[in-house]
Amino acid sequence: MADSTEIAWTDSTFNPWWGCSKVSPGCANCYAETLDRRTGGNHWEDSPKALSESNWKKPHTWNRKAEKEGTRRLVFCGSMCDWTDKSAPEGQRDRLWDTIRATPALDWQLLTKRAPRIKHCLPADWGTGYRNVWLGVTAEDRKHGIPRIQQLRDVPALVRFLSVEPLLEDLGDLDLTGIHWVIVGGESGPGARPMKPEWAEGVLRQCREQGVPAFFKQWGGMRDKGGCLIRGREIKEWPHPAPKPTA
Ligand code: SF4
Repeated sequence: MADSTEIAWTDSTFNPWWGCSKVSPGCANCYAETLDRRTGGNHWEDSPKALSESNWKKPHTWNRKAEKEGTRRLVFCGSMCDWTDKSAPEGQRDRLWDTIRATPALDWQLLTKRAPRIKHCLPADWGTGYRNVWLGVTAEDRKHGIPRIQQLRDVPALVRFLSVEPLLEDLGDLDLTGIHWVIVGGESGPGARPMKPEWAEGVLRQCREQGVPAFFKQWGGMRDKGGCLIRGREIKEWPHPAPKPTA
């Protein structure tokens, strides 16, 4: 897993297993599946694999370093899987929660497209939410993305966030009550579907109006040449009072 990452809104990525299956239009050009196939894997559509002991040691190493330096580190969990996937290799989600509990200097960003599964996958002692876990859902379109926002809101969490990426259409009016952070971005890579400026601006405007911090990640495109400026400036806000990446 990656000590550092190109994902601008985190410090590191960690995968508790490798492999996933497609659930909605945001998955159509899944970069993780492409990477899996390019590296000779066959772990999509219900055949994810467990990962090595050395993989599981990484978060503990990051946690020790963060504690020594008196900092916190953001960890995006699941660049190559979905943490709520029913097909998770046996015991691996429990192991993820053990790891999260043992790494209090890390802020874990858990993102899913399987929002109804969140409450079934939380640990018994979740209560009002762990102090080091942010829960997020992807909201790429109206049909699949918008219902996930309410499903996320129904779960207690320190930070609830939306990944509006890849934004595939105008999302219309959004109720951001109980949402603490919104990431917006277009699709990048081969076959990238274009994001109209007014779609992104509509989401960002509603974040401003409803007082929700927003992070505009990228316009996207075939070679990701769109950059991350919107109306000539960067929008990189963070949930309060949570930390931003240390890098
Ligand atoms: S949920 Fe994420 S990792 Fe899984 S297929 Fe969809 S885009 Fe890929």
